[in-house]
Amino acid sequence: MPPSARADTRAGLLVPADRADRGRPVAPSSGRWRPLGLGEVSIDGGFWADLQQLNATVMIGHCETWIERVGWIGNFDAAVEGRLPQDRRGREFSDSEIYKLLEAMSWEVGRTGDQILDARLRALVARVAPVQDADGYINTKFGRPGQRPRYSDLQWGHELYCFGHLIQAGVARARTHGEDDLVRVAVRAADHVCAVFGPDGNQGVCGHPEIEVALVELYRLTGKRRYLDQARQFVDRRGYGVLGDIELGTQYFQDDQPVRETTIMTGHAVRALYLAAAAADIAVEGDDADLLAAVTLQTVNTLARRTYLTGGMGAHHEGESFGQDYELPHDRAYSETCAGVASVMLNHRLLLATGDALHADAVERTLYNVVATSPAKDGQAFYYTNTLHQRVPGSAPETDVASARASSSLRAPWFAVSCCPTNVTRTVASLEAYVATVDDEGVQLHQFASATIHARIAGDREVVLRMETDYPADGRVRVSVVEGPETPWALTLRVPAWAQGAELAVGGERRKVKPGYATITRVFALGDAVVLDLPVTARWTWPDPRIDALRGQVAVERGPLVLCLESTDLGASVNHVRVRTDAPPVERDGVVQVPVSTLDLADGQWPYGPSDDAHGAGTMRGKVDRGLVPLVPYHRWANRGPSTMRVWMPAGN
Ligand SMILES: [Zn+2]
Repeated sequence: MPPSARADTRAGLLVPADRADRGRPVAPSSGRWRPLGLGEVSIDGGFWADLQQLNATVMIGHCETWIERVGWIGNFDAAVEGRLPQDRRGREFSDSEIYKLLEAMSWEVGRTGDQILDARLRALVARVAPVQDADGYINTKFGRPGQRPRYSDLQWGHELYCFGHLIQAGVARARTHGEDDLVRVAVRAADHVCAVFGPDGNQGVCGHPEIEVALVELYRLTGKRRYLDQARQFVDRRGYGVLGDIELGTQYFQDDQPVRETTIMTGHAVRALYLAAAAADIAVEGDDADLLAAVTLQTVNTLARRTYLTGGMGAHHEGESFGQDYELPHDRAYSETCAGVASVMLNHRLLLATGDALHADAVERTLYNVVATSPAKDGQAFYYTNTLHQRVPGSAPETDVASARASSSLRAPWFAVSCCPTNVTRTVASLEAYVATVDDEGVQLHQFASATIHARIAGDREVVLRMETDYPADGRVRVSVVEGPETPWALTLRVPAWAQGAELAVGGERRKVKPGYATITRVFALGDAVVLDLPVTARWTWPDPRIDALRGQVAVERGPLVLCLESTDLGASVNHVRVRTDAPPVERDGVVQVPVSTLDLADGQWPYGPSDDAHGAGTMRGKVDRGLVPLVPYHRWANRGPSTMRVWMPAGN
């Protein structure tokens, strides 16, 4: 842990110093595996290190600049100066963006000890803290003369949602620094929530789940049971129409059925996923096997039937919601970046609870293909929605005004509803948390990056591992033992589901390993190395036949990366391509290529007819063979200007 990671003992005893949990974003008290935090894992090279560097040097500052420019942090100044409601800017949930940014900054300061960033964090907190009322309430949109009263709009007001993000920021700060003003503001807000919404108080819930997952983590941080109890009450109350009906239906905010009776996710994707993440936490802390089984079932079913190849979730723009089973239109994918973040949160929790590799696979897929897709290569623009087929090139958004959330075909610097950029920054600043876990027997490696891992296993045995890899460009992962006990212990490595034919070498022995987890138990000498070889060669991927929108189409993946075809490389629109699949995709100099032709179609008056190639006047005139055309990783698309793009390509000669 860097120098800043010390408890500020002058500040009081709200957060016991021994509960700092070494920078772990999620710290369950039980489960199959125990997480390792930012103080135990350091990523220092490769894909994730580069993204973390971009986050540290550009993305966090970019978000900071924008919350200033659009006046969302200024709302706090206006509150102190008595200029509300007249000077308020932004939507009812804009306070939460400051809190998510504070969470990102907290992880980043904890990760690197960056004192300049620490000063910026403190300066923001100094503007937020004075707005808190004596009873712990804090919100710039409600409760003042001329504003709506507190909690008068639980459906849409997002007050508890904002508290959730404030509390998560406080937990992040406590776990990387110790108690300070941010932590105290967060704890007071949580105490206020418990006082107002406890068993004898307001029996409502927030339209947007988020407070629940935050309260459980605050319980884990402080050991105070009232936070866990309050989180459980919020989860238990939901699902009985407590929020009242809305035009989108109560399903929109998961108030149509209790989470423990839900078998697959419906409604607004981010809300459903945050709620499920909280329910997983509550199940673990309450030793509630039925609830854990319910959350696991709905997650497994949602992954199996309502998830895009990228790991993206949410098939409807209307209501930002899940579609029905196998309803996954690629050209209308909503796949909000925040839903990707939320899926990572949920699957990480289920991985810790169950030890099922399916969840680590989902974390990997979603991190590489949703979370990493959102930021532009310069870190100054973001995707909110993540389509898998861009039909028109569109145009570059304005650089100095906020964009409508889903209308931009290129990444936009900021949005009128700008939940995604700050969600990306807090996730990227805490990626270390997803790399490795421990149990009494040993260490498990779930995500691959050049990293050093410090772990303590049963018997107070210290293990230090060095992981070296160029993953995902290269499939070789070399893990060497820097420090370890002289007794046998278990080193476990995840073998991703796509990695058929993976091999594991230790000492002079080499063996095939199946997807799931491969474990080596032995006495490791210092310097011993285990090498995992994952076949990251490009492969064709076909959809389930029930996904009508994808019938007859094929995608290409390479390792954990989903690839796509962009008009920039094709030299023509991608909307009328055919790709030949009679041989595997070609790889040359690190570039994946596939044989593509484009159809030459005459425009007709009616787009239907008696046969595939003679519909009305829209007759096929021929085809243009484009030869081998390069594909790019989906997360890099649209970094070269406006383009048409598709992940799924019609297969045919
Ligand atoms: Zn979002």
